[in-house]
Amino acid sequence: LIQLFRPLDMLGWVYRTIRQGLVDMAAMFRLIDTRVEVEDRPGAPALAVRRPSVTFENVVFGYESERTILHGLSFEVEAGQNVAIVGPSGAGKSTIARLLFRFYDPQSGRILIDGQDIREVTQASVRAAIGIVPQDSVLFNETIGYNIAYGRPRSAGEATHDQIIEAARGAAILPFIEGLPQGFETEVGERGLKLSGGEKQRVAIARTLLKNPPIVVLDEATSALDSRTEQDILGTLRRISRDRTTLSIAHRLSTIADADRILVLEEGRLAESGTHIDLLRARGLYAEMWARQQADGEGLDEAAE
Ligand code: ATP
Repeated sequence: LIQLFRPLDMLGWVYRTIRQGLVDMAAMFRLIDTRVEVEDRPGAPALAVRRPSVTFENVVFGYESERTILHGLSFEVEAGQNVAIVGPSGAGKSTIARLLFRFYDPQSGRILIDGQDIREVTQASVRAAIGIVPQDSVLFNETIGYNIAYGRPRSAGEATHDQIIEAARGAAILPFIEGLPQGFETEVGERGLKLSGGEKQRVAIARTLLKNPPIVVLDEATSALDSRTEQDILGTLRRISRDRTTLSIAHRLSTIADADRILVLEEGRLAESGTHIDLLRARGLYAEMWARQQADGEGLDEAAE
């Protein structure tokens, strides 16, 4: 948070960029450190999303020219599907999310949303179509209501109080907020009420509900929570992903075992893909990772199901 706000104070333009709805991404991708790599093609139209499929076609990408991170990655997520991306640290999982949000363009290959190359449409329209629930959400030193309303595309207009209440209800944080003496007017952040990790995540979920994007990216959204809170939040996340195309980036396999499909990434290549059961049967990298996490005491609940 401090990392974000210091440069904000200094750089008006960064602030304006963030005001335009990038705040959730800032947390995930350290926007401040990210050079402006992509620009809209002159006259680019807005993305038109009818069926929000996501397609990576032979995507080759490296942050630096001498080091390739994704080596010709191809996969498709059909509209409404819930697909998880797992793999060892550094395999390129978050890179996929950054490319989808078009913080960078691939060196070759294409990324399509509903059949449209994201390089051919406006960045604002791509970003409006995607909601992110990052592992550590940025909160402004503002009211909790403001923090929930934040990040809604301008085109959608100001959120009404009723819509904010509905979003808070959907994220299961309404009783908590209503229990505060000043309710939605309570100041949060560094100078106000400190929220726990789980509460911050619920604010991020409420923001996403209010933004109502057709595509959702969940970035290991249940890390660092106690297991009861984790189970509660998982339930809420399942609800928000129900009618949306969802990409879940996960470290702990127990949280994504019920995904429609799991993509196992290894050093920027698709090593395996399938359902949890398919992948256990294949006895490959996923089965190995699963066995290791079980031995470490993770995912016991899911294993029993
Ligand atoms: P983790 O599970 O640890 O979060 P990941 O699979 O999400 O890892 P990425 O964050 O996609 O991995 O990173 C893939 C590779 O790209 C890593 O080797 C990382 O060092 C490198 N990388 C990530 N961001 C940058 C950047 N901004 N500049 C240069 N290299 C980067």
